[in-house]
Amino acid sequence: MTEAWRPDDDEDRPRRGLPGPVKVRVPAKVNLHLGVGPLRPDGFHELNTVYQAISIHDELTARRGDTLTLTMEGEGTGELALDESNLVIRAARALAEHTGMPAHARLHLRKQIPLAGGLAGGSADAAAALVACDALWGTELSRDELAGIAAGLGSDVPFLVYGGTALGTGHGETISPILARPVTWHWVVAIADSGLSTPAAYRELDRLRAEYAAPPPLRSADALLAALRGRDPARLGRALGNDLQAAALTLRPALAETLKAGEAAGALAGIVSGSGPTCVFLATDATQAEGIATELRASGLCRTARTAYGPVPGARVC
Ligand code: ATP
Repeated sequence: MTEAWRPDDDEDRPRRGLPGPVKVRVPAKVNLHLGVGPLRPDGFHELNTVYQAISIHDELTARRGDTLTLTMEGEGTGELALDESNLVIRAARALAEHTGMPAHARLHLRKQIPLAGGLAGGSADAAAALVACDALWGTELSRDELAGIAAGLGSDVPFLVYGGTALGTGHGETISPILARPVTWHWVVAIADSGLSTPAAYRELDRLRAEYAAPPPLRSADALLAALRGRDPARLGRALGNDLQAAALTLRPALAETLKAGEAAGALAGIVSGSGPTCVFLATDATQAEGIATELRASGLCRTARTAYGPVPGARVC
């Protein structure tokens, strides 16, 4: 645990109408608490979640152009469509529509956040596109305005506009920052060989609940919030919780082995991140995190394991 970034340290508003290129870094997220309520008539589940942005980043570069184009490199290259379905393009179009600007930009994505990993990579890229195009076009929207557009793109997108540690309610899109005294938490992120579909994980949870085969739903996030305030990693480890974990484990039973291996390597606790299949482990410090990552890589139970820390800022021009 070390002194760290504070949410209001870097109110680095996007710079006015840059000629480009504009480079934006955006983090992945983990859910320290993910309470999933019943399915609502609008097709969303009611969520009560605590997000934390961690130091695994995608990078989006925006240049001036006559049309809207997207290229990419890194994680998911060749798998991810770069057409109108891509969240980067959808976000740029949503900002253009909101501001009345022509949707003209040449966008290039460097992806490190694994695809369909439960780390909200697509949502992160959407948040990056909003911030990058806002700077490139000089539209100068506030973070709150960008988050308002973000909410129409996906449940996790508003959080990734802000970053830090925050409570998410509604279907995750209503964000309340958690202003605890700044602390850095150290994580190990075990990345699986292939992704898991978020809708499939929610459907599996609904099925388990209908058959009374799911663990009781998490209660409020109060214990987790108190642990964050207490700055005590052991207490935070005990308070981590994810209602979707049972669903991820029935869809991908091998994740139980990954969780066991991380804890055997000394992690304070391990948890499936969001809808999985990425598993995240809390470590006492950066050195211990390195040791756990090394053991997990050697175990062969995951494609790779990386260390990360949080909280970090959301999508920012760099
Ligand atoms: P979450 O944690 O928010 O449930 P995830 O991390 O499990 O998300 P993502 O990597 O965000 O999963 O991808 C989910 C799906 O979104 C992908 O399978 C892909 O079809 C779609 N998608 C659209 N644009 C992107 C993008 N830029 N990056 C990743 N996925 C994208």
